[in-house]
Amino acid sequence: MPAQIPAKRILVTGGAGFIGSAVARHLIAETDHQVLVLDKLTYAGNLDSLRPVENSPRYAFVQADILDAPRVQAIMRSFRPEIVMHLAAESHVDRSIDGPGAFIQTNVVGTYTLLQAALGYWQALPGPERDAFRFHHVSTDEVFGSLGAEGHFTESTAYDPRSPYSASKAASDHLVRAWHHTFGLPVVVSNCSNNYGPYHFPEKLIPLVILNALEGRPLPVYGDGSNVRDWLYVEDHARALLLIAERGRVGESYNVGGHNEKTNLEVVRTICAILDGIAPDARIGPREGLIAFVADRPGHDHRYAIDPAKIGRDLGWRPQETFETGLAKTVRWYLDNRSWWERIRSGVYRGERLGAGG
Ligand code: NAD
Repeated sequence: MPAQIPAKRILVTGGAGFIGSAVARHLIAETDHQVLVLDKLTYAGNLDSLRPVENSPRYAFVQADILDAPRVQAIMRSFRPEIVMHLAAESHVDRSIDGPGAFIQTNVVGTYTLLQAALGYWQALPGPERDAFRFHHVSTDEVFGSLGAEGHFTESTAYDPRSPYSASKAASDHLVRAWHHTFGLPVVVSNCSNNYGPYHFPEKLIPLVILNALEGRPLPVYGDGSNVRDWLYVEDHARALLLIAERGRVGESYNVGGHNEKTNLEVVRTICAILDGIAPDARIGPREGLIAFVADRPGHDHRYAIDPAKIGRDLGWRPQETFETGLAKTVRWYLDNRSWWERIRSGVYRGERLGAGG
C-alpha cells in the first residue's frame, strides 16, 4: 500500500454533477481531505446528489460559474486549494448537437477562465506550496474520435473529435497542456470512457433505459444498436481520479477504462434481464419487447475502447466492479432512490428525444 497522502484542500468544480458528486462523496467517505464543491447548478447539477456529505465539517458548497473570473479568483484566494479537480462541463453529446454554444462557453472559455485564475493563484503561492499544487483536468475518451472493430485508445492516440461536445473537450485538454508547457502550471489530465452508476442524470442511456423499462415505456436504441461503448462504474472512476490528482506525474495524461466494451443493444438487453428478474411486472411482460430502434444520432461514433494499462502500471489502479456487478448495483440504486429521479423526471427532463439534429 502506498503511504497515506496528508489531508489537503481540494476544490472540485462540477461537483454537483454525476461524476463530480461521486468524487465529493468518495473524498468525504474515504479520505481526510477538505472539499469545496464549486458548481453553477445547471440542469445537470443537483444538490440532492451531495446529501450524503452535506453535514460533514470537511465539505462546503459554493454556487458559482467558472466563466465568472473575479468570483473564481476570490474563491481560490479564500479556500486556498492544494488541488483543483476540474469536472465542470456541459457533458451530453445530444445536447451539444441541439445547442453547441453552451459547450464552447463552459468547456472552452470556462476552462480557460479557470486556468487563468489557477495560474494567478499558483504563481502567488510560497515555494513548497507551489511545488505541491496540482490542476487535474477531467476529460473524456471521445476526444480520440471513433474506432473500427479493432484497437484501443492509448495516451498517445491522436486527437480526432467528431461532435461539438468532444471538440470542446479536446480544446480544453489542449488549453490545459498549453498552460503547463507555456506557464509551468502543474497539471495532470485524464481521459475516461463512458461512466454509469448511481445519481446519473436520467437522459443518458443507462438510467433512461432503467427508468423507461421500469415504467413500461419504449426503450429507444439509436440506429441498429451496434455502437460500442466501454463502460466504467462511476465509483471506480472516482477512485482513479483521486489517485491521478494525488499521485499522477505532472504534465502527463492517464486513460481510465474498465475493459467493458458493450454494444448499446447488449446494454439495453442486460438491463431488461436484470429488471425482469428483480422487478417483474405482468402488465409489462418481458422488457425486451419495449426496445424501439430510432433514427441514429448524427455523426454517431462507432466504437470507443480504452487501454488503461498506464494507470494500472504507474498508479496501481484497477476497477473493482465488472459491468455485471456495477449494472446490478445501479439498477438496484434506481429502484431504491425513486425520490432522486422522480423530482428530475417531473421537472427539467421528461424522457424526450434530444439531439436528433432537427
Ligand atoms: P454532468 O453534466 O453530470 O455534471 C457537470 C456539472 O458541471 C453539473 O453539476 C453542472 O451544474 C456543472 N457546470 C456546468 N457548467 C458549469 C459552469 N459554467 N460553471 C460551474 N459549473 C458548471 O457531467 P459528468 O458526467 O459528471 O461529467 C463530469 C466531467 O467528466 C465532464 O468534464 C465530462 O466531460 C467528463 N467525463 C464524463 C464522462 C461520462 O461518461 N459522464 C466520461 C468521461 C469524462
